[in-house]
Amino acid sequence: MSQAAAETPLKLKDRVILVTGASYGIGAHAALAYAREGATVILLGRTQDMLEAVYDRIESEGLPQAAVLPFDLGCNDEEKFIELADLIAAEFGRLDGALLNAGVLGQKAPIEGYNWAAWKQVMDINVNGQFLLAKSITPLLERSPHGASLVLTSSSVGREGRAFWGAYSVSKFAIEGMMQILAQELYDSRNIRVNTLNPGATRTSMRADAYPAENPEHLKTAADIMDIHVYLMSDESKHVNGQALDAQTVK
Ligand code: NDP
Repeated sequence: MSQAAAETPLKLKDRVILVTGASYGIGAHAALAYAREGATVILLGRTQDMLEAVYDRIESEGLPQAAVLPFDLGCNDEEKFIELADLIAAEFGRLDGALLNAGVLGQKAPIEGYNWAAWKQVMDINVNGQFLLAKSITPLLERSPHGASLVLTSSSVGREGRAFWGAYSVSKFAIEGMMQILAQELYDSRNIRVNTLNPGATRTSMRADAYPAENPEHLKTAADIMDIHVYLMSDESKHVNGQALDAQTVK
């Protein structure tokens, strides 16, 4: 490491940050990026061995030890979310940030032909799970001595509807609405800023499912969009609240 790099202060030193969907894709990269800036990251997702691989990567780089938290955001059980928040409280006492990144694509089909079970599954994970998690961790975020950052993950189809994107598009509109409400409810009174981030077209398994004919080599990688992820968790964004942000111009 150069002397200049060694002297650059870490932007997230001693912060505790929850990342959902940390097992692979954008969330795994965000967790690593936060850890590289000094944060202790809590890795949430359903696939334990993939969460552990991210944990191992963080450990192999000598970064602050992470925590693995297997959890299904689509479980539809508020008690489990309360237990999850209690577990984080017992282990860490607070949260300085949370990136609610986990999500599913569901079916790509016209509304008229959209499968009801598929619709409900997308809503359970992408909307109801986000609501229950945001609700249960708000007291933990309030305990941050730095002012906490809650980042909800959106999409360009959550800002303008697009044919055949069905439940996914509707779920991201819901996230934009929830962000606006939370930003008004939590910023002045609880010192928690709330924003949405649209990653834009990013080379992940979800993008490949959505656009199977696309050449992934033409897309940004998750690693390419980490600056804004770090910015939104750091003190640099302390006064940014209620904003719908884009990680790149390609949507
Ligand atoms: P991936 O499909 O690659 O990763 C999704 C992540 O969410 C995985 O870690 C997955 O882990 C987790 N997840 C899915 N369902 C659940 C669940 N029920 N409970 C807990 N975790 C769950 O997606 P991306 O990384 O591409 O996308 C991340 C976010 O960015 C999503 O919200 C997506 O909508 C959004 N986005 C992505 C774009 C892109 O081009 N990639 C563009 C615009 C928005 P596991 O399976 O282990 O649970």
